[in-house]
Amino acid sequence: MPTNFFCRILGHTWIHRTEDPKVAWNAGKDMLQLHATPAGEIRFYLECHRCKVTKENPTLQEIKKINN
Ligand SMILES: [Zn+2]
Repeated sequence: MPTNFFCRILGHTWIHRTEDPKVAWNAGKDMLQLHATPAGEIRFYLECHRCKVTKENPTLQEIKKINN
């Protein structure tokens, strides 16, 4: 995946992203059946405004940097 030019020069521009809880489909241990398991919590992550790179489980410091 080509890196965005501005992201290379300036670094990523992170924005908050959240995802509502939804049913997640996971393959079982037998890999033959799909089992529906409800996601326990809202997925919270950062996404680069420009190149759409995502960062899972951002640290509190990273979140504060965006808010400032
Ligand atoms: Zn980026």
